[in-house]
Amino acid sequence: MNKEFEFVIGLEVHLQVKTESKMFCRCAADYFGQKPNSRVCPVCLGLPGALPVPNALAVKKCLSLCLATNCQINKISKFDRKNYFYPDLPKGYQISQYDLPLGENGFLEFDVDSDSRRVRIRRIHLEEDTGKSMHTNEETLLDFNKSGIPLIEIVTEPDFVDIEEVLAFAKRLRQTVRFLGISNADMEKGQMRYELNMSLRKVGSQKLPQYKVEVKNIGSISVLEKVIKYEFERQADILASGKLPTQETRGLRDLSGKTYSQRIKEDADDYRYFPEPDIPPMHFSDEYLEEIKSTICELPQARKHRYVFDYKLEPDTAEVLITSKVRSDWFEEAIEKIKDTALIKEIAKWLIKDVNAIIKEQKLKLSELKFTPKQFSQLVEMLYQKKLSGTLAKQVLAEMNSTGDEPEAIVNRKGLSIMADETELIKVIKTVFKDNANVVGDTKKNPNAAKFLLGQVMKATKGKADPAESARLIADLLSKE
Ligand code: ADP
Ligand code: MG
Ligand code: ZN
Repeated sequence: MNKEFEFVIGLEVHLQVKTESKMFCRCAADYFGQKPNSRVCPVCLGLPGALPVPNALAVKKCLSLCLATNCQINKISKFDRKNYFYPDLPKGYQISQYDLPLGENGFLEFDVDSDSRRVRIRRIHLEEDTGKSMHTNEETLLDFNKSGIPLIEIVTEPDFVDIEEVLAFAKRLRQTVRFLGISNADMEKGQMRYELNMSLRKVGSQKLPQYKVEVKNIGSISVLEKVIKYEFERQADILASGKLPTQETRGLRDLSGKTYSQRIKEDADDYRYFPEPDIPPMHFSDEYLEEIKSTICELPQARKHRYVFDYKLEPDTAEVLITSKVRSDWFEEAIEKIKDTALIKEIAKWLIKDVNAIIKEQKLKLSELKFTPKQFSQLVEMLYQKKLSGTLAKQVLAEMNSTGDEPEAIVNRKGLSIMADETELIKVIKTVFKDNANVVGDTKKNPNAAKFLLGQVMKATKGKADPAESARLIADLLSKE
């Protein structure tokens, strides 16, 4: 990458709101994968005379995002018409918000490595999604099931200066809206889309560049990353030759991140915004906003930091725990009432590694596991208190997941408790030494030989031998050989 220039990036994020019905009519919003044009009515088809009625739940969810991202709420807010022509927009305008969006001047905090960053949010408004065009060789087909799906638009200030920031922000925002239950933000279903606004400036310059390039309809975080890299090279080449890149809208050529010029960008004037005459302005009372505020759960960024400060978890571990609210809630249930941070760490480790392995292997959800978070933490506690070895704990965990029995009951039933008795262990170790006389002779030269012997002891006892105690006894006996 050219070292002379740095990024200036602002994002516009579109988010489909999770509601039963569409934004301005009562058509079902579960359009994905349904028969084309099976969820339409005069309102979302834009037929003359049809009257839009705003979806109160969509407004409420958008307000909760505004509050969660520290925006100021416009207590009087309204809808506006944004006029443009496109076949998938049957009314000839989109109902959106112009000068009085639901929220303005907020910010979102997120981490890049162990650094906290903050990006300002310029505005958050509510609008409606368009229909979908499908182009074949001969014709264009139109499906209006998506027309009128509630859509939140989040516009940031041009605060991003490197790729890592953009990607970390995109991920944290996605988690945040999922935690809030605003949207599933399923990228594969097009529920979260990005528009990248990007320009370059000389490193060290504080000024906003005189141009910006907009790339529309980026459907995934990985493509977003590729587009940023591609645009950096393209714009840097133009700047290096002494010219200014054209201010324009570019489209995605394919998923490789290459872009092409679509059109020289229109101004707000071109959209001839004016207030939507069919929908009266909305007024929000303080009580209503307080009520929404009280439903906002602890958000991923705050949770992560609490895990790091209160439980002394590594930031990376905490980050994995907050990937979803379900996982994070599951973890919290497991550690409820536990004060010992070393035990909490162990529980986090086992959740991330071993419980995850079961989930992946058996294609389960956390909620489908046969054991409860409490039973899981009991198991890890037994391990922590050295009543079980790691190998045994894994066996017990597998058994817990097939039977749903208490860990203690499984340990007793299968006689799985750990073997820590010195005389018993020495007996086993001596047999292992006898069977592996050549390895024993090797231990002076080969430091791995002792590990091999320990492995044999574990094998001979079916994982029941206390590993630390066995290792100590092996070293002790070897020194006497
Ligand atoms: P427009 O009127 O073209 O939509 P705005 O000024 O409203 O432009 O900004 C749209 C988005 O572009 C915002 O996310 C903003 O942060 C970003 N942006 C504005 N200027 C620049 C710039 N010079 N480089 C990169 N992004 C920019
Ligand atoms: Mg734009
Ligand atoms: Zn409809």
